[in-house]
Amino acid sequence: MSIFSVVAQDKAIVKLQQAVRSERIPHAYIFHGPVGVGKELCAREFAKLRLCENRRSARRDGHDYYDCCDACPSCRQIEADTHPDFHLVYREQIRELRSQQLDQPADVASPSRKTHQATVLSVDVIREKLNQPARLTSTYGRGRVFVVREIHLANPSAQNALLKTLEEPPDGTVLILLADKLEGLLPTVLSRCQLVMFGPLPEDFLLDRLGQAGYEPAESTFWARFAQGSLGRALWLAAQQWYSIKVDLLADLAGLTAGDVVDLAERLMALPKAYAAQARKDEPTISDTVSKQRMYSFLLAVTSAFYRDIMLYHSGAEASAWINTDQRSLLSKAAARMDILSASRAVSLVSRSEYLILSNVNANLVLEDLFGDLAGMNSPPVGVKSSSAGVR
Ligand SMILES: [Zn+2]
Repeated sequence: MSIFSVVAQDKAIVKLQQAVRSERIPHAYIFHGPVGVGKELCAREFAKLRLCENRRSARRDGHDYYDCCDACPSCRQIEADTHPDFHLVYREQIRELRSQQLDQPADVASPSRKTHQATVLSVDVIREKLNQPARLTSTYGRGRVFVVREIHLANPSAQNALLKTLEEPPDGTVLILLADKLEGLLPTVLSRCQLVMFGPLPEDFLLDRLGQAGYEPAESTFWARFAQGSLGRALWLAAQQWYSIKVDLLADLAGLTAGDVVDLAERLMALPKAYAAQARKDEPTISDTVSKQRMYSFLLAVTSAFYRDIMLYHSGAEASAWINTDQRSLLSKAAARMDILSASRAVSLVSRSEYLILSNVNANLVLEDLFGDLAGMNSPPVGVKSSSAGVR
């Protein structure tokens, strides 16, 4: 691998290359942008370049561009995650620290570990995995690189602990903090880091990768658009095999009547339960609440995308701009039964429902309410006489 294997993030690469060229690499970076667009890959490749024993340069567009050799012991050790001066820091390391305190292996389930969901990046992880090793002299004498995942999930005390290293970085130390968003980061942290922005990836690139992974064009197009330029998210969603769930849900929404509401809510309620059981096998440390909320968020995002497409239909946008181009004719029929104002109201109702479910309000009641409201917005299919027609 090389830093040039990071695709469609030219602005970020140019910024990093300028720092290498001027030999003024900042002590701390924040790589920020949507999840799944190559931030961590770029951080790792930049670490390889920074610590490489035989850095190479090549002339491109009138400038020298640097790259790692990808073959020296340093490059190979970073690839294998065994480099003593390359440190990956992430929130789940709290479990390892806790089990060390309890003096038992990390794979033994214990009541104390079960309660630790590691939903935030904690102060203990920053202290033990970053501040402490940062104080040590580097093993190979070329400095140390720390890559911190999900810094936006660091709570204020963890961020304050991080300031210790940010304020007085040891010589040769480079911190690369990865953030899906900048909200929640302390101004004192932000002001000590150079920001490097990563944008969404182009749709063609996502389509290409989804195709390579074996997904049909219609399905690939849907995931590429639904994931909004995040390759990581598109591949993850596709791998869950949720495409048929979305196809069926759209068919349900398009024909929704008041009589279907209870049945639809009940059928959807079964999905988060089934997914939670599956997720427990794939990620033993995930809680049922988190995995169920993942599925609810997906179902509601699909519902929201359906009504957004109806809005686009009425605003005269080409079908190629829709998310659900794979169900074009179904959408056109659904749009004929709902005006743009109702579709816009539907989008607001869906986002309110998601808020309620994520706030742990009874999901069944929320969904029944939501689908009841949505069913009321559909005018009856052509040929069926509306009881309220005379009132309007
Ligand atoms: Zn190398």
